[in-house]
Amino acid sequence: MDGVVAVTTAGSRYHRGMSRDLLVSACLLGRACRYDGGTRGHDGVSALAEAWRAGGGRVVPVCPEELGGLGTPRPAASLRRGDGAEVLRGKARVVREVDGGDVTRAFIRGAHRAAAQAPAARAAVLKARSPSCGCSGTHIDGAVRPGDGVFAALLRARGLSLQSEADLETSH
Ligand code: SF4
Repeated sequence: MDGVVAVTTAGSRYHRGMSRDLLVSACLLGRACRYDGGTRGHDGVSALAEAWRAGGGRVVPVCPEELGGLGTPRPAASLRRGDGAEVLRGKARVVREVDGGDVTRAFIRGAHRAAAQAPAARAAVLKARSPSCGCSGTHIDGAVRPGDGVFAALLRARGLSLQSEADLETSH
């Protein structure tokens, strides 16, 4: 068992034999893949990625919404009636905010494709509050509430250690 993965901007630690892959929300590393065509490049995440690579690890940037075929730019979407874990159980949905169109299948497909980019990864750094990547808080029924986005929920269910860029800012 790998145990808890500690990922910090000061250095990256992983146990002998554990995966050296680190999944990262691509927008945090400067890719313009957000729904509005923008990015959320984050200095702390970039520093962490550099530290991870310096330690011999592989950084794997992914955008689950692009991998789900939603394209960029795309209409903003949010969760209805539950978090990402509930979406994966078929109990909640993801809808376009502009017209209520159901994009649940695309979000689930994208989550699985993104996870498949690094199936042995044991840790991820994910964009806070995103309906895909948000961990420990995302937009549900019109407000930011506790719970994961769809991709974050899939990774958590597989036992990965998750941090958001906001977690990095409060860990120093
Ligand atoms: Fe960033 Fe994730 Fe949204 Fe893609 S799905 S833009 S990686 S937060």
